[in-house]
Amino acid sequence: MDQLPKCEANYTPLTPITFLKRASAFYANRTSIIYEATRFTWGQTYERCRRLASSLRALNIVKNDVVSVLAPNVPAMYEMHFAVPMAGAVLNTINSRLDAKNVATILRHSEAKVFFVDYQYVQVAGEALRILVGDSKVPESSIPLVIVIDDIDSPTGVRLGELEYEQLVHKGNPKYVHAELEDEWDPIALNYTSGTTSAPKGVAYSHRGAYLSTLSLILGWEMGGEPVYLWTLPMFHCNGWTFTWGIAARGGTNVCLRNTTATDIYRSIAMHKVTHMCCAPIVFNILLQAEPNEITLTSPVQILTGGAPPPAALLEKIEPLGFHITHAYGLTEATGPALVCEWQRKWNQLPRDDQAKLKARQGISILTLDDVDVKDLKTMASVPHDGKTLGEIVLRGSSIMKGYFKDRKATSEAFKDGWFVTGDVGVVHPDGYLEIKDRSKDVIISGGENISSVEVESALYKHPRVLEAAVVAMPHPHWGESPCAFVAIRNNSAGKTEDLREAEIISHCRKNLPHFMVPKKVVVLPELPKNSTGKILKNELRAKAKELLVSVNLSNKSSNVNPQPIPPFGEQNLQAFSRL
Ligand code: ADP
Repeated sequence: MDQLPKCEANYTPLTPITFLKRASAFYANRTSIIYEATRFTWGQTYERCRRLASSLRALNIVKNDVVSVLAPNVPAMYEMHFAVPMAGAVLNTINSRLDAKNVATILRHSEAKVFFVDYQYVQVAGEALRILVGDSKVPESSIPLVIVIDDIDSPTGVRLGELEYEQLVHKGNPKYVHAELEDEWDPIALNYTSGTTSAPKGVAYSHRGAYLSTLSLILGWEMGGEPVYLWTLPMFHCNGWTFTWGIAARGGTNVCLRNTTATDIYRSIAMHKVTHMCCAPIVFNILLQAEPNEITLTSPVQILTGGAPPPAALLEKIEPLGFHITHAYGLTEATGPALVCEWQRKWNQLPRDDQAKLKARQGISILTLDDVDVKDLKTMASVPHDGKTLGEIVLRGSSIMKGYFKDRKATSEAFKDGWFVTGDVGVVHPDGYLEIKDRSKDVIISGGENISSVEVESALYKHPRVLEAAVVAMPHPHWGESPCAFVAIRNNSAGKTEDLREAEIISHCRKNLPHFMVPKKVVVLPELPKNSTGKILKNELRAKAKELLVSVNLSNKSSNVNPQPIPPFGEQNLQAFSRL
């Protein structure tokens, strides 16, 4: 058997580009993209991507060049997921909520050659470019070429440079044939982490990793043929958890949205008969708070949620509206979701609240992961499957990133003994399902006891008036740290929030938690600070909690709370992508 040859007929590099070619061949006239009044078919999408790829080549974009984009979920953003790799380049989608300084940092670090900017972000992009131009370390030749994406339906005529996206598509060659991929390990995307716990790092994905993750998420979510997918999750976030490529693989329809208000979401669901969408659990609040006459689901909508723990109390409320939730856990470094809480039929018989508790667990590995485990990082021993012993979640398999671009040190720290270390703390239940208890940096250590902030947050969410909750460590003169809760609350029937006192929330926690886990302080905010993917920014809250202690107890200035220093941006060692 060893002598049997590997050849082009039986061994081709894996790449998601194949999904588009296939969709255009077999779903040529099926709608690929809906955006306001615009409709494209898969035949048209393939042609537009070929044109754009050929134009990028004409602009001297070559293999491994980085092409950055700052845009909402509009058709151009979708098309670039295919066109950029078809030109041999690497797609860098930038978080659209970043400020100019952060955008400039990413452009500088990624060495982007071309920068596509949606008209909505022209101002922030302009400021970012001015920062680059003013930086003496950035030679003029390294300033990216800017191409504005104007709206297809109602062009604004906004200009930042000479070129506009539709011109590039128009001028390109519709018959362009992209060069055969030499190696499936070649990079396809560069995604900067959201930096909720540290400075952003450039996570590089390979064609192979993107291809395999896409397939296993389709399977893990049991997504059938021809889905109608609503883009509520930003495409810039882990390439839309791979569904940018996945919807082509299923011959589905992408419903693109510039904004994601409850009205936009419910209107799109009704108009286009949406079957699937992804979102962070925080979006459930938006869906729940819509006017009752807006909530008009006529058939179930599948939601894949993740990015933060979905509290069981919220899961119980959202499903009766007609949404069917699948819970996934992942991170940028794992090409998005790496674990899915695969539902077992026998659980259908259980009461609703037990079902919600099972579903709130993060689950088991997706098919392309070789393995997942929870380990004691000092000994690398697996924790017992008792649902209690804490350890760090580690992953290995084809979904894991190539590494951090130009940051050899961070890359080697992320991998340990053949595992990728997630930085999340969890337990394994006797049935093998994992449950996250915290990020290692978020665990609160009070009087030597570990307190899971997720557990305290789940208890807070059980209070009927609590809309959002986040618990962080607050320095405490006696206990070292103690839990401090930040909550946003629902209005009462008179439209007010002031009636709900801190004491009531604390007494609710006393009824639902062991005494040592009860927050020592509860701060009510109109809204909790979040990043663009709906993740609560605990760093900001930790800083607020630290100030609280200072104002409560000025004598304790030298408190030992971990100040979460932000490390400098990744070590610049000029390592090329291909050598990662
Ligand atoms: P960043 O690490 O920069 O915030 P990511 O978007 O990659 O960016 O965040 C990944 C983190 O989000 C995970 O490490 C984990 O802490 C958290 N997370 C993701 N999904 C879940 C989930 N289903 N339940 C709990 N936490 C989650």
